[in-house]
Amino acid sequence: TAAVLKPEEVIKKYMEEVAVVPEEDCIICMERLSCPSGYDSSGEGGQSLQPGAVGKFTKCGHTLHALCMLAMYNNGNKDGSLQCPSCKTIYGEKTGTQPKGKMEIYSIPQSLPGHPDCGTIQIIYNIPPGIQGPEHPNPGQPYTCRGFPRFCFLPDNEKGRKVLELLKLAWTRRLIFTVGTSNTTGEPDTVVWNEIHHKTEMMSNVSGHGYPDPNYLDNVLAELAAQGVTEDCLRR
Ligand code: NAD
Ligand code: ZN
Ligand code: ZN
Repeated sequence: TAAVLKPEEVIKKYMEEVAVVPEEDCIICMERLSCPSGYDSSGEGGQSLQPGAVGKFTKCGHTLHALCMLAMYNNGNKDGSLQCPSCKTIYGEKTGTQPKGKMEIYSIPQSLPGHPDCGTIQIIYNIPPGIQGPEHPNPGQPYTCRGFPRFCFLPDNEKGRKVLELLKLAWTRRLIFTVGTSNTTGEPDTVVWNEIHHKTEMMSNVSGHGYPDPNYLDNVLAELAAQGVTEDCLRR
């Protein structure tokens, strides 16, 4: 990560203060923008922002209380990035809370159902159990790791290789897994997938997480983009 900005500096980097406050509600606190933020200024960096200050995002143009955006930022992993709560536009480089582990890539000659013309890329994720950090739901408590190593498959064609490069970037940004409650098992404080779908069945599709699935590569590209991981990032 680049130089660490203070929370209020991150707000000021991506939002400009509006002179004329629009007649709208703040999407975070639901108060009128013309009234002060529902959050007080006692949070980290809050003292440097006016309670009535309304910020406008530089790219998407959505407006909300500066103090409300600051509270949302302080509630997250404080990675120097902001995400507009209205339209989800990402400012800066979004990172996640994936615990330490390994991502390995192998090549398999066999073809996937639906992709008869190429071999297969196999990704193996392995994450060992550990103790939750300040960015996790229960800092200081252990987290478990079920079903690891997890084996995932991509067609070894141009689009599949592009997805692989983006998944590697998502891995370095800690976006592939998170610590939380498993939807499948209900177990809390465990390592779970984080909104970027993977194909964990190679030759069948019993779970819905297998092949064939003609839309998979496009769907996962959209999920990566929603986390700020796009082809543009590879060119830089
Ligand atoms: P979860 O149940 O909280 O769900 C999070 C996301 O993962 C959801 O979007 C869901 O659609 C997706 N998902 C659920 N099951 C999946 C699967 N089998 N393959 C790919 N994606 C899946 O997530 P979770 O708790 O991390 O995983 C779900 C279950 O799948 C867990 O019980 C895990 O142990 C098991 N699993 C096992 C292996 C294995 O190789 N043994 C591999 C992957 C997942
Ligand atoms: Zn507000
Ligand atoms: Zn927006």
